[in-house]
Amino acid sequence: MKRVFIDELHQYIEKPVLIKGWVSVRRDHGKLVFFDIRDVSGHVQTVLLPSHKDLKSSAEEIRSEWVVEIEGLVHARPEKLVNKDEPNGDIEIEATSLTVINPSLTPPFDLRGDGMDINEELRLKHRHLDLRRPRMLRNMRAQAMVGKFVREYLTARRFTEVSTPILTKTTPEGARDFLVPARKVPGSFYALPQSPQQYKQLLMVAGIERYFQLARCFRDEDPRADRAYGEFTQLDIEMSFVEQEDILVLAEGLFTDMVEALFPEKHISEKPWPRLTHRDAVVKYGTDKPDLRKNKEDPNELAFAWTLDFPLFTEQSEDDFFHGSGKATFAPSHHMFTSPHPEDVTLLDTDPTLVRGLQHDMVLNGFEVGGGSIRIHDAKIQKKVFDLIGFNETQKAEFNHMLDAFSYGVPPHGGIAPGIDRFLMALLGEQSVREVIAFPMTGNGRLATMGVPTSASFEQLQELGIIAIKKNKELPNAI
Ligand code: ASP
Repeated sequence: MKRVFIDELHQYIEKPVLIKGWVSVRRDHGKLVFFDIRDVSGHVQTVLLPSHKDLKSSAEEIRSEWVVEIEGLVHARPEKLVNKDEPNGDIEIEATSLTVINPSLTPPFDLRGDGMDINEELRLKHRHLDLRRPRMLRNMRAQAMVGKFVREYLTARRFTEVSTPILTKTTPEGARDFLVPARKVPGSFYALPQSPQQYKQLLMVAGIERYFQLARCFRDEDPRADRAYGEFTQLDIEMSFVEQEDILVLAEGLFTDMVEALFPEKHISEKPWPRLTHRDAVVKYGTDKPDLRKNKEDPNELAFAWTLDFPLFTEQSEDDFFHGSGKATFAPSHHMFTSPHPEDVTLLDTDPTLVRGLQHDMVLNGFEVGGGSIRIHDAKIQKKVFDLIGFNETQKAEFNHMLDAFSYGVPPHGGIAPGIDRFLMALLGEQSVREVIAFPMTGNGRLATMGVPTSASFEQLQELGIIAIKKNKELPNAI
């Protein structure tokens, strides 16, 4: 018999079916034994009637999380037994055959409920079990549905999906890089990309015109509720021959249509999305990412907004890792490729603090879910910005590939990169971005399921020409 998914059972009322999945709950009422069976699509109650004596004995040993297959008849439940809160609360399966595919140890924590009261480290260590929760499976599916929607939407609008390198060069997004030793060039390193920023701009020079990528980005910065440690996924977009308005319209259309198509239970508070200048947002709300929900108790309200007209520069702080010399007073408020507002270009020479940048931040329910800008496409202005942020000649030389590329006919261009994990967190009302990532790192940078990072053998280090110095006892493989 062909296996039926649990969310298809309504098509089989009073018909025989075969279902496969995990036992989520077993209830023994003496004569009657009930199993709640769960698969990726949902769960359903199965009942073993006393008339099937043979089943009763094999059912004795079965416990939660055992993998089973059940053949049975789908019955509509009598009116008084209907549970309206459950998708399958109006049916149940009368088992006619029951086979254990695999037993399970008792899981280290309860897999029913939302799991929020369980120690997060423990949940992450056994993530393969934690992900069995319907809430977590929903989150994984939401991520996949968003990816599919984005691909179809953008591809239908002349966008080309391009993959860019993971082993690459340091990128100036303001965080620390992850370095990977280059065996073939001893003493040198690749950096994992903090974003594909430079590659997407080079793709505009190449004439791709409309690019996107569901890009993995790597940043060695402290985790927060809305930022996972280590890596995250961005919907990276870049467009040529556009003005800021075109980027806002594209992104607003994409996210509005996506929410309406995939998450119809959600409602967007205001359309078109409100637009705020940076100054007005800070004066009125005390933040550049205000939460504009009308009713914060409503889990289905989505308050999107744009914040515009950011200052191009902020004061440089000790936390800036964007490779400036540390002597300059300015740091880019977005990144060093953001174009100054055309009306403010002359202020670069007189009062850079007054220069506005063509930056746009996408805000959702008080989270910055994406940022982008129109880029500088004039090598002279780019050099001026490098000077203002304190680049010395060696540092400038690191970006010669960009200046060089820009001397071969670069179109005006700009883009945006909404963070997919952060968007899903806000959309699904999750408390932490880790709830929407399959295998996130713990706060101290460990992948608990696999015990990553691991030490390297002496031979591996030797081959790479690397000596590990023991600073504290926790360093693996130190000498
Ligand atoms: N690369 C930028 C970031 O990661 C986004 C952009 O400017 O498109 O924030």
